[in-house]
Amino acid sequence: MLDKTEAILADLIAFPTVSTDSNLDMMHWMAERLEHLGAKVELFADDTGAKANMFATIGPDVPGGVVLSGHSDVVPVTDQVWHSNPFQMTEKNDLLHGRGSCDMKGFIAATLAMAEPLSQATLKRPVHLCFTHDEEIGCMGARALVPELKRLGKVPRMAIVGEPTEMRIIEGHKGCCEYTCRFHGLEGHGSAPDLGVNAVEYAVRYVTRLMAVAEALKSRAPAGSRFDPAWTTVNLGRLYGGVAHNVIPGFAEVDWEMRPVQPGDAEFVKDALRAYVETDLLPAMRRVYPDARIDTQVIGEVAGLEPLADNAARDLVAQLTGNNACDVVPFGTEAGLFQEMGMSVVVCGPGSIAQAHKPDEFVARSELAACLDMLTGIARSVAA
Ligand SMILES: [Zn+2]
Repeated sequence: MLDKTEAILADLIAFPTVSTDSNLDMMHWMAERLEHLGAKVELFADDTGAKANMFATIGPDVPGGVVLSGHSDVVPVTDQVWHSNPFQMTEKNDLLHGRGSCDMKGFIAATLAMAEPLSQATLKRPVHLCFTHDEEIGCMGARALVPELKRLGKVPRMAIVGEPTEMRIIEGHKGCCEYTCRFHGLEGHGSAPDLGVNAVEYAVRYVTRLMAVAEALKSRAPAGSRFDPAWTTVNLGRLYGGVAHNVIPGFAEVDWEMRPVQPGDAEFVKDALRAYVETDLLPAMRRVYPDARIDTQVIGEVAGLEPLADNAARDLVAQLTGNNACDVVPFGTEAGLFQEMGMSVVVCGPGSIAQAHKPDEFVARSELAACLDMLTGIARSVAA
């Protein structure tokens, strides 16, 4: 099974599925393979038609079952010095090198290898393979797929997201929400501040309120939170605006992000800012200039994975791997989106996040072997 996984991994790495480019060749290759095994395969194209998500089912068409999930896209190799061709798998000292080897084509290869024995077994509950596009740029694929699955009534019981954790069990991570806020005021001469609407000034007032809300988040940290820091954080990433000392700036821009530890925190922050903009900032700006505007653009809103006391996926993987230590991590995954759908979710996959996105990315053979052990256990758990 390990040999087969390695051969599949070599094929997958050879598809240069960088997030900016199409993933269709790889999707069609996988779809053909799975259909040949008798799986029911559905592809969901994005608006451009250049990318697709896949949801494939092996076993009976009944509710429940397990989702094995991975993203098909990889980060670029631009400006990285590689010692081998990043899109050709090379082996050295039991390490398999190539772009995506650990993040996360190694896991996908293991699930595809496992699909063969699964398709020959009699299953009581289905195993679903879910492969998405554009995870690396804000989980765009999964965000489009989740409503599709809901519409089709497909809500499996649990999901295993195979991001590289060195097969450690991850039951929680923070979310990541990014915003760009644009302030449109009225330019004027610095000597007559009352005749203009100073966009930078309003941006600064907005940021000051944002920092006050960020401070308030500390007292909202959930009891026993294992995140570091324990609370939802806010970062002011970029503040832009202005021309010269004596000019009232008509435009300013603020980039900021937050990393929620619980779903309510994102609403808490957004509600506080919305209220401040609507009742304080905008009326003050429009008293001078009725066309003044504050536009907030959502760059990405990736749900966190909230650690829950009751988590069947975590318990199953713990039982299969014999590893009872569950952890939380600082990086985001698609897991939170599945949790929002009502599934119990765990993140556990081969390879290390330390190698992800780096030159000479690799996955160790031993990691793939451990992953196959876990998948064999999953297969047993759904067998009739
Ligand atoms: Zn990843």
